[in-house]
Amino acid sequence: MFVVFRCSCGRHLYSLKDAKSRTCPCGKRTILSKARVLAQAEDAYAAGDIVRKLQLEGHGMTGFKSAGP
Ligand SMILES: [Zn+2]
Repeated sequence: MFVVFRCSCGRHLYSLKDAKSRTCPCGKRTILSKARVLAQAEDAYAAGDIVRKLQLEGHGMTGFKSAGP
């Protein structure tokens, strides 16, 4: 089982549910027991898919705001 969560830098990450912590590419280490889990997935492929969707949503919202009339 994998969990999907968000780093304080805004990046979405996933990790094995059994892992204690996960280091983001930004360098910050997130303790999984303290992270807010956004989603759970059966395998790494599904977890990666969720992360990609969450990232797209974030970018989409930003794009929508700045691309106003
Ligand atoms: Zn980060």
